[in-house]
Amino acid sequence: MAWKVTVDQDTCIGDAICASLCPDVFEMGDDGKAHPIVEVIEDENLYNCATEAMEACPVSAITVEEA
Ligand code: SF4
Repeated sequence: MAWKVTVDQDTCIGDAICASLCPDVFEMGDDGKAHPIVEVIEDENLYNCATEAMEACPVSAITVEEA
């Protein structure tokens, strides 16, 4: 299985919750927005934390979908 991770840059409010919950998948950029470190993940542990971050994001800016 592989999953594609995206962050909607227009929606992200830069509160860094995702980077805090799942630092192996999300990082904060110089622009103050979250960015996926890797666009496609194949590791189930990373998938689990990425979906946790997706659910925790207050503005639903994160998408995790099957690649
Ligand atoms: S949790 Fe959502 S709003 Fe917060 S930094 Fe991550 S993508 Fe942006």
